[in-house]
Amino acid sequence: MGRLRFLLYASGFSLGLCVLFSLQAFWVVHAKPDLTHINHDLYHSSENLMKEIKGLVHRHPNKLSLETVTSRNKGYQAEVAVVTYGRRRKENDDRSKYRILLSFGQHGRELITSELALRILSVLSGEHFLPNMDSDFLNSTLDKLIIKVVPMENLNGRELVESGDLCERRNGRGVDLNRNWSVDWGKKEEDFDPYEENPGIAPFSEPETQIMRKLALSFDPHIWVNVHSGMEALFMPYDHKNRTPDGVMSERMKSLLENVNLLHCHQRCMIGSGGGSVGYLAHGTATDFMYDIVNVPMAFTFEIYGDETASTKDCFKMFNPTDFGTFNRVLNDWSAAFLTVFKLAPQQIGEVPYKASVSKLEKWVSIDEYLDGYLMERSSRYGKKKEVFELGMQEIRTYFRLFLLSSVLLMFMFCSRISKGKSSRPIVSAIPL
Ligand SMILES: [Zn+2]
Repeated sequence: MGRLRFLLYASGFSLGLCVLFSLQAFWVVHAKPDLTHINHDLYHSSENLMKEIKGLVHRHPNKLSLETVTSRNKGYQAEVAVVTYGRRRKENDDRSKYRILLSFGQHGRELITSELALRILSVLSGEHFLPNMDSDFLNSTLDKLIIKVVPMENLNGRELVESGDLCERRNGRGVDLNRNWSVDWGKKEEDFDPYEENPGIAPFSEPETQIMRKLALSFDPHIWVNVHSGMEALFMPYDHKNRTPDGVMSERMKSLLENVNLLHCHQRCMIGSGGGSVGYLAHGTATDFMYDIVNVPMAFTFEIYGDETASTKDCFKMFNPTDFGTFNRVLNDWSAAFLTVFKLAPQQIGEVPYKASVSKLEKWVSIDEYLDGYLMERSSRYGKKKEVFELGMQEIRTYFRLFLLSSVLLMFMFCSRISKGKSSRPIVSAIPL
């Protein structure tokens, strides 16, 4: 009996030890470093951010308006809110003003960018004042502008981040919205990360990108800024090449960025082409599309904050300020930087010789570009790309290719008959396809 009890105790003890060791081993394998979580005292939830924006629009109907665009593809739905700022909108012809398109939150984990969108809208509405802001000068600058702000381009991706997936940058079904555009789409570098940079199954496969493209083509902006975080940088095209474009406008873009760096980034910001500065080439980006296809004279990507000391797993800290002082400093510095862009960029664009823009317009646009959902009438640079109609991209491409193929076949048969009639030589060659 005593022996049996001893055996029972001994086996219980070894079982206990076994469980303890297993737990320890599990802890060693799965233990995570201390990760920073979203500080809700600083950051709005996406829902509350939209509430704040709706409140601003409601309080300033003479300056702000809001529309929400929805698009769906294969059971996946995306919603993009667009806020438009313009003074005395009804009195003025919008086409006589400079048009500015700003997008924030294209990557889910970069929450600080959407906070900046809200801050800029608060400044524009007159509810928030920046230090050293000359309101008379600001008013005269803003009189000439129509500004469209997309505060959260990737709402579905952001919701994943808010539910705890703090490293998620892609949209709600795993596609990187800054690789889903058509310029050099799908090209993969040696260091391509299929998780982070998934470009989707085709250019514009994602509803978010479709909405943004439609917005860009109809609004036809003079200035585009895609706002990101992860580092401090002021990028201009190209992302898919390691050089900047040629020409006068490229020089002016560079000079504008140097001014912003000096005035608002304390000379810390990296400046140059995205592809040449960031350390990797990026294919299928929004900014390259805006510059090359929409012919936006000044197209930029701003990276507004990054913490290089953060561990690579600590995504929230890598991409977002975590203390009140830095959070506010970033929002104030970059709101002021945008006001400088609003002031200087139109001056620079206004001096561009007319032909420089026209020559860009005249360039060849591929059939696929035309058939990517829109048929457009391009008449002049600063206006007029009318959407004629919209059709399913895949269907129209397929029909067009079938039509081409059958035309070639018919032509071949027709020519064969003529030459047969003339020489009565038998045709034995096959169609080279
Ligand atoms: Zn980003």
